[in-house]
Amino acid sequence: MIEVSNLQKEFLNGQESTQVLKGVNLNIEEGEFIAIMGPSGSGKSTLLQLLGGLDVPTKGEIEIDHTPIHAMKEKERTVFRRKNMGFVFQNYQLLPNLTVEENIAFPLHADGKLTKENIEWIHELTRSVGLEGLNDKRVNLLSGGQQQRVAIARALANHPTVLLADEPTGNLDRARAEEILVLLSTFHRKNKQTIVMVTHDIFAAGFADRIILFKDGIIDQVISREDSDYAKYLANFMA
Ligand code: ADP
Ligand code: MG
Repeated sequence: MIEVSNLQKEFLNGQESTQVLKGVNLNIEEGEFIAIMGPSGSGKSTLLQLLGGLDVPTKGEIEIDHTPIHAMKEKERTVFRRKNMGFVFQNYQLLPNLTVEENIAFPLHADGKLTKENIEWIHELTRSVGLEGLNDKRVNLLSGGQQQRVAIARALANHPTVLLADEPTGNLDRARAEEILVLLSTFHRKNKQTIVMVTHDIFAAGFADRIILFKDGIIDQVISREDSDYAKYLANFMA
């Protein structure tokens, strides 16, 4: 589903250059739920942006469903992204003055006018994230947890190949975070949605099939739910 090889990213600021990704190799299966953890500044968000086609690597390859996105021109990448990628961010990034339904529908407008099917799908998504009855409410009147539900529904509107989430529970209290994680893992289990989630929170990572530990621009460790020492690993982390 996602194949990343020797991925490198260097940022240039005037004379200064920072090598943020130093050769990342990673394969993600269709339907996997991956958590990426690691210290602040280790390159997690940069990796997510490259996976989502929001930015291009300096070197290396990314294939999404056998499509090499690293080689795409910007226009082509934008089209690919709109069609295949869903994004959820820590700060929701909704359009504050639009309603729940208008926000969820937003990615579908790229294809022109909404069809009857589109509208039914938006209603179904609104229900599936637990916001039934709030369709016409402006999102800036909602709580943080509710706004993140809208953001998840919006991210799923285009039936993305991959849902990318960058610290989706970072602004939420534990109870609200857990609701969001249960929601994500429901889409993962029921719809076989592939999810790549960056998180600081081992509790959040515990919902994933595999935890990828990032350190200084490379993958330091991978731990899978099937590994015999998975539980011990989580316990150590929380200690
Ligand atoms: P993380 O998400 O793991 O905290 P990031 O991927 O956001 O880390 O950032 C990794 C490093 O890359 C940081 O040192 C950051 O300052 C740098 N960086 C990220 N984006 C840019 C950019 N657009 N220009 C220059 N440096 C950047
Ligand atoms: Mg980050």
